Amino acid sequence: MSIETTATARPRQWMFLDKESGDPFTFTCMPGCVIRHDILDECQKRAPAEILCWTSPDRPAYLPVECASTPEDVHVLAAQIQVRPFATSMAARLPHVTLEIVEDHTISGLDPDSLAAVIGVLAERLEALRGTHADLVRLRAEYLGRPAAPEQAATAVQQPAVADGPDASTVNRAWDAIEDVFKASANPEMTRNALREFVDLTAAKAAPEVTA
Ligand SMILES: [Zn+2]
Repeated sequence: MSIETTATARPRQWMFLDKESGDPFTFTCMPGCVIRHDILDECQKRAPAEILCWTSPDRPAYLPVECASTPEDVHVLAAQIQVRPFATSMAARLPHVTLEIVEDHTISGLDPDSLAAVIGVLAERLEALRGTHADLVRLRAEYLGRPAAPEQAATAVQQPAVADGPDASTVNRAWDAIEDVFKASANPEMTRNALREFVDLTAAKAAPEVTA
């Protein structure tokens, strides 16, 4: 459907001729309507039910959606306020929203309560999507992390070897100095073992910084 439109903020009266009887009808354009009634409807023969006012649809957003086999860019969640002043349904004679979920698939005739209900469903789906996004980020990290794990283990194994290099003498001197201090304590053997463990851990941890 291609309709030449122009923005207008003021309600305006338009006249058209009934398609069957030729009788003139007037209608008041919906505020914010962008349809060029001066071109489309003024003094034209129309079925009253065809008369339509609408706002410009909100900025379209496109997503590649697979319809048949190949993805196509289709617009999603496009909302537009409409009025059909001579609709057979009273609800359609009041401003209502037509929401295009994906291109050519719409939910029509949404009054404020119905639109709020749809927004509620979409908000819930958005929350669920955020949860799925967090799961995806975590799972991908785990999944991609597996092949890298052996490399990390190899690096960790190499660290003591680095500590045994030039820096090992520094560690030993530190160990000797600390051991001297604690030789006079009540249980030198226990202190010695604890200190050895501490120094070993410190050496392993310090090694990457030393070689950086
Ligand atoms: Zn209008």
